[in-house]
Order: sequence, then C-alpha cells, then structure tokens
Amino acid sequence: MTGAEVEHHRGAATQSRCRAPGRTGHTSPGVDHVSGPAGGTSQALKALGEDGTSLARRIVEDAAKRAADLTDRTGTTPCLATVLVGEDPASVTYVRMKHNRCRKAGIESRHVEPPAATTTGELVATLRDLSDDPGVHGILLQHPMGEHIDERAAFEAIAPEKDVDGVTFASFATMSYGLPGFVSCTPGGIMRLLDEYDADPSGKRAVVVGHSAILGKPVGMLLLARDATVTYCHSRTRDLSSVVREADIVVAAVGRPQLIRGEDLKPGAVVIDAGYNPGNVGDVDFDSAVERAGLITPVPGGVGPMTIATLLEQTVEAVARQLGV
Ligand code: NAP
Repeated sequence: MTGAEVEHHRGAATQSRCRAPGRTGHTSPGVDHVSGPAGGTSQALKALGEDGTSLARRIVEDAAKRAADLTDRTGTTPCLATVLVGEDPASVTYVRMKHNRCRKAGIESRHVEPPAATTTGELVATLRDLSDDPGVHGILLQHPMGEHIDERAAFEAIAPEKDVDGVTFASFATMSYGLPGFVSCTPGGIMRLLDEYDADPSGKRAVVVGHSAILGKPVGMLLLARDATVTYCHSRTRDLSSVVREADIVVAAVGRPQLIRGEDLKPGAVVIDAGYNPGNVGDVDFDSAVERAGLITPVPGGVGPMTIATLLEQTVEAVARQLGV
C-alpha cells in the first residue's frame, strides 16, 4: 500500500480538521463572503461544513443508494474488476480494502491476480478480456506493476467506458476538455472538495506543484477545464516559493514532507494538500500554512478519503452508462 492509500483508510477515522484560519480574516478565492473573526463563528467556518472524510462518506452513501436502485431496476449489480500483478503485500492490502468498500456499497468485485512474472502481453490480454466482459462494469489495474511491465500498454488495454480509475489516454483527453468520461480519482476528488468549499476555480490563478501522470497533470487539466489560469511546478522549477505565492489555489502533489510553508502562500489562498508522506505528513506545513490560507485541507482526512469515494461513484456511473439507464 502506498502512503496515500493508507491515508484513505485512516482518513475515515479522522476527525474533521479542514478549516479556515479565524485569526487573520483572509478572504479565500471563490469564498468571497468569508471573513474570519477569531472564535470560529464566521461564515467561513460554516461554509466549510465538511472535510474530505465526511464528504467522502456522503459520496459513498449516495453511490450505494444508486447501486441498490440500479440493481432493483435492472437486475444488474455493478461489478468492479481489480487486477493485481504479483503479491506485493501493500498492494494486496489496498485491493482488499477496495473490495471491502465495494461490498459495503453494494458493488460486486472480481479479483484477477496474474503472477508477478506475467508479461505485458499476457496482462494486456487479461485486461482486454475484462473490457469485453459484459458482467464487468469497471476495471482497476493496481500499480505499480513491476518494472518488466509496460504500464502504459497495460492501461491502454482498459476500455475507456470501464476506466473508472481514469488512467487511460482517452480519460485524460475527456477530462482535459471537460467532456463526459471518467476522471483520475484523486484529481476528481480534489475538484469535488473545491466545489464543496465553494471555491470556484474560474479566473483564479492555480499553481499545481508536481506533474505526475496520476495526480499533478490531471488535476491541472481539470482546473484549466474550469477556467483557472494554471501553472505547473516540478523539481526543476526555479524559485518555487515565488510561483506559489502568486496562487489563489495551491495544489501540493509532490511527495516531499512540508515542502510548502506558510510564508510561501498568498494570504487567503485555498490550499489543497494531496501529499501523503511517512508519519501522516502532507506536502504542506499545516501549522504555518493555516495562518495564511483561506482554506486548507488537512492530512490525513482531506484529499485521501476522496479517492476511493470517487472510484466507487464512477463504478456505479459506469454501469448506468453501459445499461443506458
Ligand atoms: P510522483 O509521481 O513522485 O510525482 C512527484 C512530482 O513532484 C513530480 O512531478 C516531481 O517533479 C515533483 N517534485 C519532486 N520534488 C519537487 C520539488 N522539490 N519541488 C517541486 N516539485 C517537485 O508522486 P505522485 O504519485 O504524484 O504523488 C505525490 C504525493 O501525493 C505523494 O505524497 C503521494 O503519496 C500523494 N498521493 C496522494 C493520493 C491521495 O489519494 N491522497 C493519491 C496519489 C498520490 P519531477 O517530475 O520534475 O521530478
């Protein structure tokens, strides 16, 4: 299990810590009515309402209701196929966790476990079979898969209509153009959190720190599709602090503990910390950042729980689309 995935798990038990700083009264972009007198009675704190954990719970409950309704109406139970190459203990745990969440939400899961020595060709054939199987509505290919596997070739063997983890080129294209399709789960969860906080990205300056294929790149494209002015930063970005300081919305997706500090932020910025590092530590130094941010997500309990919730929601949406209901 990656650190981030552990967080999905732990986040469910974490108390709400998403908050706006009361002391400074900064206004967050998109939450223009926010003004935060000390003491926590401001509209800002009321507007926050939920954090990632409770929002994720609500999304899963809605997905479960919709799954039950679909099953009643069509006789078809949504089914997510998970494919895990080899027996990496962390990945085994994470896939098991997904199955448990599926079961609780009334989603069947089917597990396919090719041996660690499986070739790219064999894995591609397995994924094509699942893509052609009408009893499977969503496919999740757990990664990393081992260095001998061509991961891109494997991902591309997933039919786009079953790509509920949003890993194919087709999904990247639809998400970039704001068209119907499936989004990468963590980036999709981040956008839901922004919506929940009423932090409209339109016209805002968004800085995404990190540009990985599963996280940084897609979240930047989702922000762009919502009319933010987006800047990507990465390990070769010069003077990161000065770039981050211009942002109304900061997404930290780096994997470097507490890289972004309070002094790097524009007062009132919305700060989404997607990082998850050993010791439950995010990519943002929460204690200093909360003094300047308008809104900030905690670690754990912010972005983490949203990922699996998005996966379940998209699995139910996939069956609805495939059945045309
Ligand atoms: P990744 O593939 O290692 O990508 C890290 C990115 O950060 C790269 O683009 C890298 O740039 C950039 N970077 C590294 N050092 C930097 C620095 N000093 N300054 C600026 N940019 C720097 O990681 P990932 O998979 O995207 O994950 C990032 C973090 O998010 C991790 O903590 C991970 O655990 C977490 N995560 C959380 C979830 C969740 O559900 N909450 C899901 C996925 C990941 P270069 O390409 O130039 O090296």
